[in-house]
Amino acid sequence: MPHLTIRTPKRARRPHSSTVDPKFTQWALGVRRSAIHGTGVFALETIPRGARVVEYTGQRISRAEAHRRSQRWERAGARGPIYLASVSARVVIDGAFGGCGAELVNHSCAPNVVPLKRRGRLWFVSKRRIAAGDELTLDYAVSPDAVHVKCRCGAKNCRGTINLSRKRRATRKSSPKRKRARRRMAKR
Ligand SMILES: [Zn+2]
Repeated sequence: MPHLTIRTPKRARRPHSSTVDPKFTQWALGVRRSAIHGTGVFALETIPRGARVVEYTGQRISRAEAHRRSQRWERAGARGPIYLASVSARVVIDGAFGGCGAELVNHSCAPNVVPLKRRGRLWFVSKRRIAAGDELTLDYAVSPDAVHVKCRCGAKNCRGTINLSRKRRATRKSSPKRKRARRRMAKR
């Protein structure tokens, strides 16, 4: 089975455990097989709306290094997982190394968590009440310019790929509704 061909020193690599590191969540979460893709993260208890569900952790790298890693991934045929999450204008977290398990959260076009970025850190915040047994899902909102990856989220409004459509990205930044939603989230 082909995997991501990114190489870093062995000691930096932490094998994915079957749990989410409890240091980075106050909720009972479990890693299980997912109908969406491979393994996913599941709520083992009910999580209310607006809660910080889990922090996204991993190796902190520059944007340039993240770009190099995703290029290598694309050259390798865009196979295997990639866990790059941008947290600020300069810093990207690579959850493949030192990830607490949050990097296993799958994509959905109808997600139940949204990213919250604060001071170079990233949390997944519940967008609605999440019932025990539900899989946590996030809209990866991958650039339309990146390699297109097919989506199997099964949502009614599924875009078909985990990438944003060009049109949507153009309206994202300027949408006052989104800004308000972000502000609301920040208050929590
Ligand atoms: Zn989808």
